[in-house]
Amino acid sequence: MKRSHLIKPILDHNYPTVSHGSGIYLYDMDGNQYIDGSSGAVTASIGHGVLEVVDAMTEQASKVSFAYRSHFTSEAAETLAQKLSELAPGDLNWTFFVNSGSEATETAMKIAIQHWQEKGYERKNRIVSRWTSYHGITMGALSMSGHVLRRKRFVPLLEDFPGISAPYCYRCPYNSEPSSCRLQCANELETAIQRIGSENIAAFIAEPIIGASAGAVTPPDGYYQRIKEICERYDILFIADEVMTGIGRTGKMFAMEHWGVTPDIIALGKGMSAGYTPMAATLVSDRVMEPILKGSKSIMAGHTYSANPLSAAVSLEVLNYIERKNLVQEAEEKGQYLLQQLHGLAERFDIIGDVRGKGLLLGLEFVSNRISKKSFRLQNGITTRIVNKAFEKGLLIYPASGAIEGIEGDAVIISPPLVISNEEIDRLVKMLEASIEELQHELHA
Ligand code: PLP
Repeated sequence: MKRSHLIKPILDHNYPTVSHGSGIYLYDMDGNQYIDGSSGAVTASIGHGVLEVVDAMTEQASKVSFAYRSHFTSEAAETLAQKLSELAPGDLNWTFFVNSGSEATETAMKIAIQHWQEKGYERKNRIVSRWTSYHGITMGALSMSGHVLRRKRFVPLLEDFPGISAPYCYRCPYNSEPSSCRLQCANELETAIQRIGSENIAAFIAEPIIGASAGAVTPPDGYYQRIKEICERYDILFIADEVMTGIGRTGKMFAMEHWGVTPDIIALGKGMSAGYTPMAATLVSDRVMEPILKGSKSIMAGHTYSANPLSAAVSLEVLNYIERKNLVQEAEEKGQYLLQQLHGLAERFDIIGDVRGKGLLLGLEFVSNRISKKSFRLQNGITTRIVNKAFEKGLLIYPASGAIEGIEGDAVIISPPLVISNEEIDRLVKMLEASIEELQHELHA
């Protein structure tokens, strides 16, 4: 066999070669069909092969693909930034474009620090985050992330940012039931601020619904309202990392709208260009930008490809497509239908401990015992086994585990493109059911 020169996620794994995609389906070169049940890495939200996007891409490329942002602005980038300011809640009226979710959170961190510096607070530069979280792979983003597996090798080089417990209700850090919940995990933020000193903290960052590290972990009502109150009381900016949840995925344009909370900064990626081009953004409020506008008038961040016209035109068409096809509403409705089906699977299979999420960002957590909620993870690599079984049947799902060793479970994310139909959901669920059935049978054998 010809050797490969490409560094892939697992070097000795034999990945099929993708050929093309259409709607919720991907095809490999051998003609096998796959349901993209996770939209890749929760990215391909409008589905594959959308010709309107291809047309927008071609049209922009035929005019100009790249013009350096220190030399020119472009109509595509200006229009996209205006569109985002119209879609975003509150006074999030500024956008800085980057190329990946990691860059978006890293830029959010830098803008938060710069905001305070411009106001004369030189030491206000720590970022508080949560232990069960993932904010990206670059060193700044990883410093804010609690994803143990991804941090492991680099811990000595990472910033020692303070972490608090996540609102992981299924494994409540305070052993509360929803009925007796006093939002102690949110109050931990206040304790952390009092310990470290608000004069040393620039911002708190959180994923509205926790994705890669735990699988669609959704906070209790009131959680984000409490977080926001604490941030305001102590003069700390609130960064919502909506890289996975943003642009309709959860049945709202921004997931934070579920709780009526407006962050100071929002990081976006993934669904923003639905995988048609690398594109991500940091949205910033007027209030946060004000001292920067009065001060150095420049954000100390950015990349060669930031705001390139080609990616901007593609992303703009993706947003317009989402609006034209009413896909935010679709995510809400199809999400309800899929959630109902996943609850049905949980009734059949006792290795499913929890079903959760919002819209079309749903998660299943597997347990070896429903009462003790003991996870399989360290012994059996259940997440990998279930993902592989589904793959063999032609269903792509997303493994989500790796937060705090020994505490978190084995979870997968089910997040198909927002264009999925009810019939396609039925097909997806049948394949998932067959995969879980096989696994449960093996485990109980
Ligand atoms: N933030 C969140 C919430 C994510 O889920 C991810 C990726 O999974 C990132 C940031 C990093 O994005 P990227 O992989 O595009 O760098």
